[in-house]
Amino acid sequence: MLQVASPDPMVPQVMRIVTRRKDAPDVFTLRLEPEGDDLPAFAPGQFNMLTAFGVGESAISVSGDPAKGDGIVHTIRTVGAVSRALAGLRKGDTLGLRGPFGVGWPMEALEGKDVVLLAGGIGLAPLRPVIYRLLAERDRFGEVAILYGTRSPGDILYLRELESWRRRLDIDLLVTVDHAADDWHGHVGVVTTLLPRVAFDPENTVALLCGPEIMMRFGVQALGNAGVPDEAIYVSMERNMKCAIGLCGHCQFSPVFICKDGPVFRYDRIRYHLALKEL
Ligand SMILES: Cc1cc2nc3c(=O)[nH]c(=O)nc-3n(C[C@H](O)[C@H](O)[C@H](O)COP(=O)(O)OP(=O)(O)OC[C@H]3O[C@@H](n4cnc5c(N)ncnc54)[C@H](O)[C@@H]3O)c2cc1C
Repeated sequence: MLQVASPDPMVPQVMRIVTRRKDAPDVFTLRLEPEGDDLPAFAPGQFNMLTAFGVGESAISVSGDPAKGDGIVHTIRTVGAVSRALAGLRKGDTLGLRGPFGVGWPMEALEGKDVVLLAGGIGLAPLRPVIYRLLAERDRFGEVAILYGTRSPGDILYLRELESWRRRLDIDLLVTVDHAADDWHGHVGVVTTLLPRVAFDPENTVALLCGPEIMMRFGVQALGNAGVPDEAIYVSMERNMKCAIGLCGHCQFSPVFICKDGPVFRYDRIRYHLALKEL
């Protein structure tokens, strides 16, 4: 018997897997639909808590198009018990979903600005709803640059979509990998090495960063060196999360909770704490 959506943020809604796609050896994308209930609306950068029944819950960002009403999309990397259990589910199986939670990307701050997106690995997933919005409302923004880095060519997500974005003349999309075999003819190097290759006016730019913390630290530094002020840089933070509503304290990041005050933060507001190791 399926449970109906609950107004209680701690009670998961039961969702059915409509499609499952493998994106990389350890990454897969699920499209979910509620059974009979309304589809939860979300803003780019928000996340849901997904339950693998009998195993546990994990925070996973929404990676689909907010304007499309055809389900909730999540891209998940297999790292531990919950993501492994979710990876074992197939089309037609069910899982639990609480959310959406958190403060997402500042879409209104991007209007009229050049936009630079810096994504590392699975970090492209939480930025993908932003990309859909930028492309759908392209004339509301200045230059748009999407810079994406992965460990190897086999880790590149959303290949067909990236190819279609690459063909557009009104955005710059550059992809790089840390290491590759001889049959790779693209860029090799960390994602920040792509920054000098794209056009943007640093004084009129907003930059959004998502990826491993080390990548975001170097990304912020490179953007700063290029003249982008700290107040125009936003980062999406990750910490282990339990309640997702600011009660349990698991994701406390000094004065803030990543679940309810983030996960997206303006860089100047967390600069000091991001520099502290192991916080
Ligand atoms: C706001 C937010 C949004 C997130 N969005 C996504 C998303 O869209 N897709 C996604 O795949 N993950 C996302 N994550 C990360 C995801 O929540 C964790 O990977 C989660 O802990 C996985 O649960 P698990 O039980 O499988 O692994 P755990 O048992 O929690 O972790 C297993 C091992 O993997 C390590 N580990 C945990 N997370 C990561 C990581 N991100 N990278 C490398 N190693 C890790 C742990 O240190 C541990 O050693 C997000 C996290 C947050 C806080």
